[in-house]
Amino acid sequence: MKFLGATIDTIVLGVPSSFFQKWVTDKYLAMIKEAISAVNGKSYQIEFHIAEEKPEAATEAKPEKEAKPSREKDKDKDRDKDKEKEKDKEKDKKELVPNLNPKYTFESFVSGPSNQFAYAASQAVANKPATNYNPLFIYGGVGLGKTHLVNAIGNHILAKNPKAKICYYSSEKFMNEMINSLRYKKMDEFRNKFRKMDLLLIDDIQFMAGKEATQEEFFHTFNALYESHKQIVVTSDKFPKDIPGLEERLRSRFEWGLIADIQPPGIETKVAILKKKSDMHAVNLPDDVALFLAEGANSNIRELEGMLIRLEAFASLTGQEITLSMAREVMKDIIVEKTRDITVEMIQKTVAEHFRIKVSELKSDKRIKTLVVPRQIAIYICRELTKASYPEIGEKFGGKDHSTIIHSVKKIEKQLAGDDEFKATVEDIRKKLFT
Ligand code: ADP
Ligand code: MG
Repeated sequence: MKFLGATIDTIVLGVPSSFFQKWVTDKYLAMIKEAISAVNGKSYQIEFHIAEEKPEAATEAKPEKEAKPSREKDKDKDRDKDKEKEKDKEKDKKELVPNLNPKYTFESFVSGPSNQFAYAASQAVANKPATNYNPLFIYGGVGLGKTHLVNAIGNHILAKNPKAKICYYSSEKFMNEMINSLRYKKMDEFRNKFRKMDLLLIDDIQFMAGKEATQEEFFHTFNALYESHKQIVVTSDKFPKDIPGLEERLRSRFEWGLIADIQPPGIETKVAILKKKSDMHAVNLPDDVALFLAEGANSNIRELEGMLIRLEAFASLTGQEITLSMAREVMKDIIVEKTRDITVEMIQKTVAEHFRIKVSELKSDKRIKTLVVPRQIAIYICRELTKASYPEIGEKFGGKDHSTIIHSVKKIEKQLAGDDEFKATVEDIRKKLFT
């Protein structure tokens, strides 16, 4: 066994045969992984590359074969054919690993306004691959659910048709496999494998930026699949035009199909995701805690999940129910970080700008509606995002008394509960504060 190379998350080991690979996998894979993570401090996937099947063996056997009578020869041929078939079968098996994450399904995906478009497009593709939206190009920021959605497409199609030839590839893995194939002169095998797919899912295409040979190869794969009406789904962190170093011809092909974006989720979607995940973990997450986490997290859902896991672990290890005060305590280093820098003055300025009024008007006592609502919103946000007490807030709003501040907060809370448009306005302002 030989070390051939490594990427961020995969180590490639060379083995002499598929038998050897199976043997190592069965007996030693767990041990190897453990040892690697002990040394490197993180875990890696292990990939095996089987060294060239020895063609010399066949040539060596030739003279002997030729000496045999013809019936024997035929038998040999049959046997060889059988062997070939076996090999093909094995190859097929190897090629057919769809590489999907079974946890990423449509059922486990929460749709909301921010991801509705990409979600609907993915479902359409999963229900009718290679009809309307080919290729499907999904783009959006880190941790917003791109990988989840493309896996959901694959899982859905595979569940309906277990024989479908599906493959999920990160661009990086595509590149590494291509390089290895070049190195071991197995490009034909590499190409054929991709060209047999019914559905090819390529994640994080932006990784191919500036990697010309990889793009070239992918371009040909793309064309072959497209021409034979096979579905292609690609994800990226950016719109095709905004990926620097992406060749024009690829870019234009991505624009042939449907381009769908995923935007950062709003508070409600984040809460819904937290609720779903905690349900899946069979953990009771009270509404106020979900809201607290959703508001404290930024848009990356992976981070949101991380918070939830941390909280669940704390609750389970201490044998307590999850409560808001526990969440505040457990998250204090993570969430305070973000709100720490927000001051009453910043909030006043942001709210005033949003409603195109003056800060002095915001602080005044004038009771016209165009000022009262922004004023109450500003007070509400101060209460929510700063540590200022009611009297302190009152002080900074032109010397208002404690009860006026409380009244404002209550008023806004009530309106937020029933008025979606209003909620969106407050959310908008909050977003401005965090950027
Ligand atoms: P990306 O590929 O866009 O960086 P991922 O698909 O890896 O993001 O998502 C990060 C994590 O957040 C995953 O665990 C995924 O399951 C979860 N996630 C993202 N969006 C949603 C959603 N709408 N509903 C449920 N889980 C989600
Ligand atoms: Mg991803």
